[in-house]
Amino acid sequence: MTLVASRMARVKPSASGVAAMRARQLIAEGHDIISLTVGEPDFDTPAHIRVAGETAIRNGETRYTNVDGTPALKQAVARKFLRENGLSYESNQIVIGSGAKQVIFNAFLASIDDGDEVIVPAPYWVSYPDMVRLAGGEPVEVACPAEDGFKLTPERLEAAITPRTKMLVLNSPGNPSGAVYSEDELRALAAVLLRHERVGVVSDEIYEHITFGNRRHVSIAAVEPRLMNRTLVVNGVSKAYAMTGWRIGYGAGPADLIREIVKLQSQSTSSASSISQAAALAALEGEQDEVHNNCSVFERRMKIIREALNKAGLVCREPGGAFYVYADCGAFIGMKRPDGRVVETDTDFAEYLLEEAKVAVISGAAYGLSPFIRLSFALSDDRLAEAGVRILRACEGLAQHSTIYRQP
Ligand code: PLP
Repeated sequence: MTLVASRMARVKPSASGVAAMRARQLIAEGHDIISLTVGEPDFDTPAHIRVAGETAIRNGETRYTNVDGTPALKQAVARKFLRENGLSYESNQIVIGSGAKQVIFNAFLASIDDGDEVIVPAPYWVSYPDMVRLAGGEPVEVACPAEDGFKLTPERLEAAITPRTKMLVLNSPGNPSGAVYSEDELRALAAVLLRHERVGVVSDEIYEHITFGNRRHVSIAAVEPRLMNRTLVVNGVSKAYAMTGWRIGYGAGPADLIREIVKLQSQSTSSASSISQAAALAALEGEQDEVHNNCSVFERRMKIIREALNKAGLVCREPGGAFYVYADCGAFIGMKRPDGRVVETDTDFAEYLLEEAKVAVISGAAYGLSPFIRLSFALSDDRLAEAGVRILRACEGLAQHSTIYRQP
């Protein structure tokens, strides 16, 4: 006898969540673990945004708001899209949710019929395939190798489309790869989509403000306006404004889809937190200095960890944005650990780093493309440098031991 629905067999817990929890548990037990699993900025929410939250509490803004968000925040989101993305939306095309995650989840539930296919370029954010499955759809994973910059090419997109394809998920800047699509690359993907009228797009732009060098984020909806009526652009305040705990995300797209997303929300969580919405308004409309400063800090840290990893033999491309590197650990697959166990997969390699180097990372298996590990660089320069030293030592140990082992 079980109270658990059969539907639950379609999903697994978020792999990054599990790895982060394990690292936290080991730290709580007193182990000196450096966790590179974190999916959130280590900065504080900027002061003016925190004050806006406090003021909302003091002013009694503590009740339900409209399910789709306060008019003030929706207007601010519309202004943000116009100002930063060149996209124009009416109020009935915008929904505020409790994080981008909820908006994406509701969007899948509201758009996918049983058996519909959703194209998910790999490596992908861990939640997309499970969300699609929960909604009754089938994720179609398309491997996008390092040689392609971990990006979907028009050829691979065309080959993956079938009569059952309902949606393409795009995520730029991407988690876990940091890949940022250029305007030309998006235009080439859009050209394919224009040939397939029934295929919609969920464009997850949550890392929009974290880009490196001269790369700039562009939205596919802006690159090809003819896709606007079938594209849901998802964004939020979590990553750009260090507001992961406030739980505010938003989506903009076709009015009929937004209406259904709002309906789902009305029967599940109702409005997002009134206090957090007031804070998000301050984030979008206030000064943006910290966003830019934090981005420079991330870029500096990216260089620190990348240099250390490349030295250790973990080849990693320069990410265009977000705060992760996706490093190739293929060189270490098949090697023997000092305890004699063989590293057979990237999951084994991640396990070895945790046990030997006391550094927690997430294996590429969780993101649909192996053999890689994802390392977050959302932690201090000192800890990152220390993690680099430990990883180097562990990799040397592996290589050394394997050489000894291989000698007859
Ligand atoms: N999309 C991607 C690609 C993410 O990495 C994350 C968080 O890790 C989210 C969405 C969820 O963002 P939010 O905190 O707004 O729910």
